[in-house]
Amino acid sequence: MRHDLVTLGIAFAAIVLFVIVAGSVVPTAIRSVQGDAVAPDVLLTNALLLNIALILLGWNRYKALTGKLETHRRSEAEARRLADFDDLTGCLNRRSFAARLEGILRNDSDTRGGALAAIAIDLDNFKQVNDLNGHAAGDLVLRTTCDRIRQVLPEDATLARLGGDEFVCAVPYSLRSPERIEWLAARMIEQVSKSVIHDGISIDVTISIGLASSAHLSSDGRETPAQGLMHKADIAMYHAKKQGKNRFYWFEPPMENELRFRSELKAGIRRGIENGEFVPYYEQQVDLDSGELVGFEMLARWESPEMGLIGPEIFIPIAEEIGVIAELSEKLIARAFTDALRWDPRITLSVNISPVQMRDPWFAQKILKMLVEHRFPAHRLDIEITETCLHENIGMVRSMITSLRNQGVRVSLDDFGTGYSSLSQLRSLPFDQLKIDRSFISELKNGDQSAKLVDAIVSMSDGLKLPITAEGIENENVVNALRRWGQMKGQGYHYGRPEPAEKVLDRLAACGRLGQDPNARVLDITKATPKADLDKTADGGQRAV
Ligand code: C2E
Ligand code: MG
Ligand code: MG
Repeated sequence: MRHDLVTLGIAFAAIVLFVIVAGSVVPTAIRSVQGDAVAPDVLLTNALLLNIALILLGWNRYKALTGKLETHRRSEAEARRLADFDDLTGCLNRRSFAARLEGILRNDSDTRGGALAAIAIDLDNFKQVNDLNGHAAGDLVLRTTCDRIRQVLPEDATLARLGGDEFVCAVPYSLRSPERIEWLAARMIEQVSKSVIHDGISIDVTISIGLASSAHLSSDGRETPAQGLMHKADIAMYHAKKQGKNRFYWFEPPMENELRFRSELKAGIRRGIENGEFVPYYEQQVDLDSGELVGFEMLARWESPEMGLIGPEIFIPIAEEIGVIAELSEKLIARAFTDALRWDPRITLSVNISPVQMRDPWFAQKILKMLVEHRFPAHRLDIEITETCLHENIGMVRSMITSLRNQGVRVSLDDFGTGYSSLSQLRSLPFDQLKIDRSFISELKNGDQSAKLVDAIVSMSDGLKLPITAEGIENENVVNALRRWGQMKGQGYHYGRPEPAEKVLDRLAACGRLGQDPNARVLDITKATPKADLDKTADGGQRAV
């Protein structure tokens, strides 16, 4: 640059010199051509020519310099655009949004004396869209979602993509009409839920929305007002997810405690897996006609040192969310194999599998590897999957079921009747049995309505030639009612609550059904647990028979 300034300085001096020299040389030259004077001095003429060359050189340099400056200015503007805007959607990014929000919140006049609403938006199950349809489809979904949100927003709103499938907007509104923000959120949900077509395939996505108002900000000094507002909207958004997705919620203070508890649970689950705090409990499965024990269903329990015994409905969804369900499940199954090897080999072992595990293309291979490692006979294992799995990649589920069955493992459809599997899906999937959900069975005693539903399910399974297991049998009346429909298996509190491995061994020892495994405990009749104790179960329940 300094070099360029020197060149321009020389050009400027050359112009001044040109004016002085040309003033004396040019008139003399003209007059000499006309024959009125002698030719101008050679030295002066050469100086003039040199001057002209210098001026041309300077002009050239000047042009090159301004060109360079323009390119520099453009690339600076491009760098600023890249730093402030999201490449895929063209809206603000996290950094620039935070700065903009800070500015708006500082300047009250921008919120028109009213308030500012932060709207946190997150796509539901976006990972699945990417996994099933590829990243190009995922990008299209993100761009379309962004356009649809933008169309709904008023002009004075600010929209940003925070990264991944997260968006946020800031909308000024009057505190007297919060329903305006609710209307916006409802419109966004409605617009985004319209199908997106990619390569002729229709993709459906929904969004969960959290709303927070600047009017309810309280500063604890740890966060700036913008951070506080975005954090609250985020908490409300997670609440919407937890309440079933595809909906919106305003932030409320108790949500914060809930979230804190959830994050403690997440950390606890990770620690618990490391420390072996997750243990298999077993629930008896019985042949209803003979009353004979035919199998056990393994049900996961968390023996948390801080919180006590926790059921799977609490920790399985969180383990799925934080991506540790496969690790947790594999550890439990391994323990269950070891436990079940001590039982009478005619007793089967059922295990529940999460839909998240069914998305793993290597799932069947992993199960087969575990069977081999533990020398557990495949025909004793029954894998229970729920109807939710069938809504996902049905082709993959079918091939997984087929490869498990080819190795001798049985596959059951759990909680049947609570999902939406169609008859044609059922016919096309090679299940070994259906498990009727306990909501139908436990109401059997309450009248005809449920009896008709059970009747319909039983006739359907007859048509499909699928055996049935009835879940949730709580008393003798239900057993008698079920016997009307012929041979089936059953389980429920009537036969006993889920109990830990040691209790199962005691139970089996008492009825002489321990296996021949060298590690199996030898039954010592004198030390056998009294029957009254056996009937008391580990999770506090009492055997009903
Ligand atoms: P599920 O597979 O349908 O298991 C049956 C559930 O019903 C168990 O609840 C059991 O304790 C309960 N139950 C059994 N008999 C009765 C009865 O007579 N009355 C009533 N009211 N309830 C009865 P639990 O153990 O809380 O398990 C809940 C669900 O958690 C299971 O439903 C299963 O879907 C899931 N789950 C359990 N263990 C695992 C696991 O290791 N992996 C996965 N992915 N899911 C699991
Ligand atoms: Mg089950
Ligand atoms: Mg079930």
